[in-house]
Amino acid sequence: MRRIAEDLRRRDGTIAFVPTMGFLHDGHLALMREGRQRASVLVVSIFVNPSQFGPNEDFERYPRALQKDLEKIERIPADYVFAPDTRAMLPADTETWVEVTGVTRGLCGAHRPGHFRGVTTIVAKLFNLVQPHIAIFGEKDFQQLRAIQKMVHDLNFAVEIIPHPIVREPDGLAMSSRNAYLSPKQRNEALALSQSLFAARELSAAGTRDPDAIVQAARRVLDRSADIKLEYLEAVDWETLAKPSAHRSMLLAVAARVGDTRLIDNIALHNPA
Ligand code: AMP
Repeated sequence: MRRIAEDLRRRDGTIAFVPTMGFLHDGHLALMREGRQRASVLVVSIFVNPSQFGPNEDFERYPRALQKDLEKIERIPADYVFAPDTRAMLPADTETWVEVTGVTRGLCGAHRPGHFRGVTTIVAKLFNLVQPHIAIFGEKDFQQLRAIQKMVHDLNFAVEIIPHPIVREPDGLAMSSRNAYLSPKQRNEALALSQSLFAARELSAAGTRDPDAIVQAARRVLDRSADIKLEYLEAVDWETLAKPSAHRSMLLAVAARVGDTRLIDNIALHNPA
């Protein structure tokens, strides 16, 4: 991969890169289309990264469908698909890890110890291998996006990070490979996540900027569903993910379990001023 990337760069190609864990849906494909438009070469990676899963998480049963994924990528089309095997990417003798501190402390970082360290280490390796000029990341994983932006800034990676808006199902559910775990009944329950965020957005648009009031409005919607186990529901500063202020743009972020499936979603509440 590295040799190909160096060749491409020598030939004046602009390389766009979309890293994924596969089991592709329209959210992933939207990122790829954006990369396709912005660069002459599009590289997609598929790698289910064991180092970002906790010991009791779903690494083993994470859905995989390489052949179907390749067919979907073919229709974009991408120029290269990089799908390394686990040991090649993460040899047993690995002793070096990339850890972003501040922005990874709260939200998912507080509930998934080591998760972001696994993400940033693998993304750093992928950047070194693929040598992209730009890389596209979804706002669905907003804290991940901020962690990668911080890593790129702090470690002087020569790659521009392009955020892509969340792609939702027509009824509002944020697309996710993990939605495949949901039974029809659970999928219906899961709608409460996006609905709670939309309720908060309405309140914010009507002029309520108090973070506590916004969180309460969202919580009222989530409380209606007995089958949702809330992990966190928090308003944070949209840029720093630290304590929010009514005068600045906020991010309202939620993580919850529906059955055994952990889902996340978020919405930006921009300061209209
Ligand atoms: P994953 O395969 O879940 O690791 O996701 C790969 C990339 O796709 C990440 O940048 C995600 O943020 C992005 N992504 C996943 N789901 C969505 C979605 N519904 N909308 C936009 N981006 C997404």
